[in-house]
Amino acid sequence: MTDLTGRVALVTGGTRGIGLATARALVEAGATVVLTGRDEARAKEAASAAGAAAGLVLDVTDAKAVSTLVRGVAKEHGRLDVVVANAGIMEDALLGMIREELVDTTLATNVGGTLHTVQAAARAMMRKKTGAIVVLASVVGQYGSAGQTVYAASKAAVANIARSAAKELGRSGIRVNAVAPGVIETDLTSGLSDEAKADNVAKTPLGRLGTAEDVAKAIRFLVSDDAAFITGQVLGIDGGLVL
Ligand code: NAD
Repeated sequence: MTDLTGRVALVTGGTRGIGLATARALVEAGATVVLTGRDEARAKEAASAAGAAAGLVLDVTDAKAVSTLVRGVAKEHGRLDVVVANAGIMEDALLGMIREELVDTTLATNVGGTLHTVQAAARAMMRKKTGAIVVLASVVGQYGSAGQTVYAASKAAVANIARSAAKELGRSGIRVNAVAPGVIETDLTSGLSDEAKADNVAKTPLGRLGTAEDVAKAIRFLVSDDAAFITGQVLGIDGGLVL
């Protein structure tokens, strides 16, 4: 069993789905976990459900708010060992239907939000010269997907945030990795038709869709000492799916 006793962890977008499952998995391994959500009541409720130490309000598109929150968590708990930049959005649009607003919101949340979180995490971890960061890429960012050009572009950028930050931060003892989930059954994918789900299952060698817990367990491994020599990687959590 992975042991994260004594570690302090922050998970953004932790009120549901992969973020909530990750908060739970880190708590199970003994970490003190702070999760964030955009709504105060939901963040507090999720924290209580996951056994987290706190549920705080954060919009990851606000760089200053991210910086203040991360600094605050590190100060309150005396350290920050693990940061999971999970918050993200997905909205489908065929090429001809892409509005500027969709581009702006998706890039501000998925790319900007991840970048702000990694920057703030690195600043907080630099002092102790140790830490592990995981960002949420996607199988779609690796292979592309019809109707998801904006999302796919944002997730390809997220993978390269991990690869680049890992190169910069390795000598400071900070590891940065990405997970690239396949199709995971959460609110994000609840709009998929049964036909689309069946199509994805058919393309998946392991023959099923993923669960939030599948992704959470891989994240827990990546932030643990079991992954001490792993950095700059983009780990597919996709049952072998190739789009
Ligand atoms: P979800 O929609 O269930 O959860 C996303 C979380 O991010 C929510 O808590 C939401 O409130 C939060 N969030 C969104 N915008 C935010 C913002 N501006 N500031 C703060 N929080 C914000 O989705 P999920 O399926 O759990 O996805 C989690 C992450 O995994 C996302 O980055 C997503 O792109 C990625 N991912 C999901 C899948 C999948 O199939 N579900 C596949 C690949 C990657």
